[in-house]
Amino acid sequence: MRPPAPAVGPGPGRGPLAIGVDIGGTKVAAGVVDPRGRVLEQVRRATPSRDAAAVRDTILDTVRVLRERHDVVAVGIGAAGFVDAARSTVRFSPHLAWRDEPLRDGLSCGIDLPVTVENDADAAAWAEWRFGAGRGEDHLVCVTLGTGIGGGIVFDGRVRRGAAGMAGEFGHMIVVPDGHRCECGNRGCWEQYASGNVLGREARELARAGSPMTVPLVERVGGDVEALVGQVVTAAATEGDPCAVELFEEVGRWLGIGLANLAAALDPGAFVIGGGVCEAGELLLAPARESFRRSLTGRGFRPVPRIVRAALGPSAGLVGAADLARAEAGAGPARGPARRNGTATPGSTVPAGREPPLDLS
Ligand SMILES: [Zn+2]
Repeated sequence: MRPPAPAVGPGPGRGPLAIGVDIGGTKVAAGVVDPRGRVLEQVRRATPSRDAAAVRDTILDTVRVLRERHDVVAVGIGAAGFVDAARSTVRFSPHLAWRDEPLRDGLSCGIDLPVTVENDADAAAWAEWRFGAGRGEDHLVCVTLGTGIGGGIVFDGRVRRGAAGMAGEFGHMIVVPDGHRCECGNRGCWEQYASGNVLGREARELARAGSPMTVPLVERVGGDVEALVGQVVTAAATEGDPCAVELFEEVGRWLGIGLANLAAALDPGAFVIGGGVCEAGELLLAPARESFRRSLTGRGFRPVPRIVRAALGPSAGLVGAADLARAEAGAGPARGPARRNGTATPGSTVPAGREPPLDLS
C-alpha cells in the first residue's frame, strides 16, 4: 500500500505544495509546485544513462534536496516511457534503461509521501490544460516535440490514458510504411519525420552530401558535422539561416499531416504544441497549419481545431506531474484527474470502479 499523506502543513497562503520530477533522456528536473502551477524552486541533474538504479537514486536525491526546504504533500514523476494503467510501472522507455521498471514502488521506499508516476507528455498536457495554453478547452490534445514526439489527451477535464495507460503515443503512429527506422523497433513512425532528432538528422545528411546551403550551419559547429543536432538547427532557424528555415518547413509539413490524422481520430478543439522544437515558433507552426488545413478530413464542413504554441515551456512536465500527484493525494482541484476503473493491473493500489464510464459524447 502507498503510505498515507502525512499531516504536513502548507506555507502561509500558498496551499499544499507538491514536487514534480520530469525525467528525460538527458536530464532530471525536479521542482516544488504550488496550486497555481508556479515553480517555487527547481533542481536539475544529468540523467544517468542506461542504469535504472542510478536514475532512481538521482530522483531520490532531487526530492531529498527540495524537501529539506519545503513541506510537500505528494511527489509526481513524469517519465519518458510507457507507463502502466496503475501509474506505477514504466513498461518500456525507448530512450531510457527502463524495462518493466516498478518505479513507484522503488521510490516509495525512499519517500514517505504518496508517489504517482505519469507519462511525461501526459503530465505536460495536464499542465497546459490547467495553467497554460489549453485552459478552458474541453477537448485538448498536446503534442510535445523534443528528441521524439510525446502526446497527451485531456478531454472533459481528465487525462485520457487508455485501457493500458498508453494512449497518446502519437510519435509512433506509422506515417510512412518502410520509412526511417525508429527506436521503438518499427519503421516510418511520425517522430522520425517531425521532431528535434529529424532536424539534426536531415541537417547532417545535407552537410555530408556537400550541400552549399549547409555551410553556415557547419560553421556554427566548428566543422564537426556530427554536432549538428536539433538544438543547433533550431537556434539557426530563429536567426534566419535559410537552410534551417527550410528544414523547419519540412518538419512543419509533417507535423501538420500528423495533426490532421489526430483530428480525424480524436476531433479536439485545440492542439497545443510544446517541446524544445517549438522555440522556433511560427517557423514551425505556420507550415504546420498550412499542411494541416490541406490534410484535414471534412475540411470546409467542420470547425478547424486551433494549433497553438505551449505556454509553460520546459517546466510543463514537472508542473503537471506535481499537480496530478497533489490531486491524487486528495489535495488538488475539485475537478481533478480521474482514478482508473477496473482495468488496474494486479497488485495495484488503485480501487476499482472509481471512474465513471468514458463518455466521448
Ligand atoms: Zn516508433
